[in-house]
Amino acid sequence: MSDLRADIIVVGAGHAGIEAALAAARMGVDTVVFTTNLDAVGNMPCNPSVGGSAKGHLVFEIDALGGEMSRAADAVTIQSRTLNLGKGAAVHSKRVQADRDAYKRYMKRALEKEPKLRLIQGQVTQILTEESEGKRKIKGVITELGEVWLANRVIIATGTFLESEIFVGDKVYSAGPDGMMASRGLSASLASLGVSLRRFKTGTPARVHRRSIDFSQLEAQEGENVATPFSTLSDPEKIDPRLVDCHIVYTNANTHRIIKDNLSKSAMYSGNIVGTGPRYCPSIETKIVRFKDKERHQLFVEPCGLDTDEMYIQGFSTSMPTDVQYEMLRSLPGFEKAEIMRYAYAIEYDSADPLGLLPTLEFKCVSGLYGAGQFNGTSGYEEAAAQGLVAGINAALAELGREEMILPRSSSYIGMLIDDLVTKGTEEPYRVMTSRSEYRLLLRQDNADERLTEIGRRVGLIDDERYAAYLEKRRLVAEEIERAKRTVIAPSEEVNKFLADHSSSEINTGIRLCELIRRPELDYEALSAIDTGRPTLSRAVTMSAEINIKYEGYIKRQLSEVAKSEKLESRLIPEDIDYSKIYGLRTEAVEKLSEIRPKSLGQASRISGVSPADISVLMIRLGIS
Ligand SMILES: Cc1cc2nc3c(=O)[nH]c(=O)nc-3n(C[C@H](O)[C@H](O)[C@H](O)COP(=O)(O)OP(=O)(O)OC[C@H]3O[C@@H](n4cnc5c(N)ncnc54)[C@H](O)[C@@H]3O)c2cc1C
Repeated sequence: MSDLRADIIVVGAGHAGIEAALAAARMGVDTVVFTTNLDAVGNMPCNPSVGGSAKGHLVFEIDALGGEMSRAADAVTIQSRTLNLGKGAAVHSKRVQADRDAYKRYMKRALEKEPKLRLIQGQVTQILTEESEGKRKIKGVITELGEVWLANRVIIATGTFLESEIFVGDKVYSAGPDGMMASRGLSASLASLGVSLRRFKTGTPARVHRRSIDFSQLEAQEGENVATPFSTLSDPEKIDPRLVDCHIVYTNANTHRIIKDNLSKSAMYSGNIVGTGPRYCPSIETKIVRFKDKERHQLFVEPCGLDTDEMYIQGFSTSMPTDVQYEMLRSLPGFEKAEIMRYAYAIEYDSADPLGLLPTLEFKCVSGLYGAGQFNGTSGYEEAAAQGLVAGINAALAELGREEMILPRSSSYIGMLIDDLVTKGTEEPYRVMTSRSEYRLLLRQDNADERLTEIGRRVGLIDDERYAAYLEKRRLVAEEIERAKRTVIAPSEEVNKFLADHSSSEINTGIRLCELIRRPELDYEALSAIDTGRPTLSRAVTMSAEINIKYEGYIKRQLSEVAKSEKLESRLIPEDIDYSKIYGLRTEAVEKLSEIRPKSLGQASRISGVSPADISVLMIRLGIS
């Protein structure tokens, strides 16, 4: 058959593959996406939720760049909450409970509807390359059915499927998540091309039937009253943040005893599993071992959707044998009669060393080959989607002969995530955290659109309607900040009673509204009582205006730090530089610089093992004062 070709082939229709395929097709490039199972497009093999600490920031950023996860999450939200409200605005993180099946349906439809995109069920088992100008270059792929598909670029987004194995106690078998088949053969093909692979692992808890849980013994956790959508294109009126409750339950001494007594039966502790797991998503047995003195661990009981009785027990992932899983579960209050619908398990899989990638997520060893998602060594739907978007955009830009897109660390958590991966690497599944960024105060949820929409527009993923909405929001935020700066609140009995009621010092002369907003004990919403002339504005606008006013000083300081770091970021290093010939560079620095081949002095300065002295030597060599 002759038309077995595309400009770009995406291997995988998980969270990374979806964003990569949609971005490339929407940028006008002929794209094909393969998945081993069409009924599992956008599957959530772990918690049925989108967002959370720092992950929420990623979703807002995906939206600003023109990605899809944000709109999908808004469309299938069954509960919404904002985490870390007790902390500063920079770490406020939106998290939604998503209807897992509705999410899959939404994403499959999104792929099916895209004119330039073909979605195909099939397993890619081999990557085809050819030599061109002394370099290895992508030619296409071969599927398990022996079909040869030609393409100029291939994006690998195979998640947790490569040579994956499932572990439940001493049982080990070849399979992917949720009973799907493992991906066989592709790892060997990638390794033969010079892609460095290593074994990672992750795990998931059991799913329990709702009818078998006595909720009267659990603590309910409701959604927030009003939700700000992830996407500027979503209608907030259409989102009900309190459709379902989640519940909280705690482990107890009996649970801990059962786990300790059976620790050797856990695949994790029997030595069966060799892969490295995510430090920030430990199994319950690891928590018991690591935090010996902790009397109880908090677990969240989360509905998996509106049209299912499956309940997800967050924080209780394990690789214990099935009988022990029952014992552990039934030791929890309210779970005495628990019925398991899906057993917990651990999964081990091949993932690539991201030090082999350029900041565009193209592999250094094969031009036209890109990596995205869990395959690159991360963990999480949001991290995967962010990388898929960047890989899809860059593969399409290369296909269109246009300038690549590299997001600096100061622009976004997406930029930070990718820079961490390709510059520092990771020895375990990497999870995004706000503490990883040196620009936290600038990288907030409320201003993701300000930071990235122009870039999304440049690459061709932000259409006119959307761009107009963004410009309008920006105008309204600026106007509201101006209004707060010029509005004077006059002293009066009513005003001073309001201030006293909020333990805020009374005034005896006029004070500008912005001064009151800056008072830690006051906020924009509360001040509506004495700020009677305020316009009706969306929550997204008021939130952004308030944060810009409240943290104005800090924001200015961080912006000057960014300006300083940009000096080093803008100093590019010639691609063909030979570090072994630079006098004064330490051996370790020569090795690391030659391996990672940083694009800029800024990236070079972040490589572990490269000291400030090495950077000065490099600057002299490059004639930079
Ligand atoms: C058991 C388990 C527990 C997890 N626990 C957590 C957690 O606690 N916290 C967390 O943040 N994340 C967790 N995750 C990770 C989260 O699920 C992933 O981060 C996310 O799904 C990664 O998205 P992805 O697009 O990279 O890959 P995936 O969602 O895994 O999608 C991969 C896609 O590639 C396709 N595919 C694979 N090989 C081939 C091939 N050869 N040919 C064609 N198609 C192929 C598959 O069909 C699938 O469509 C867990 C995952 C699993 C499996």
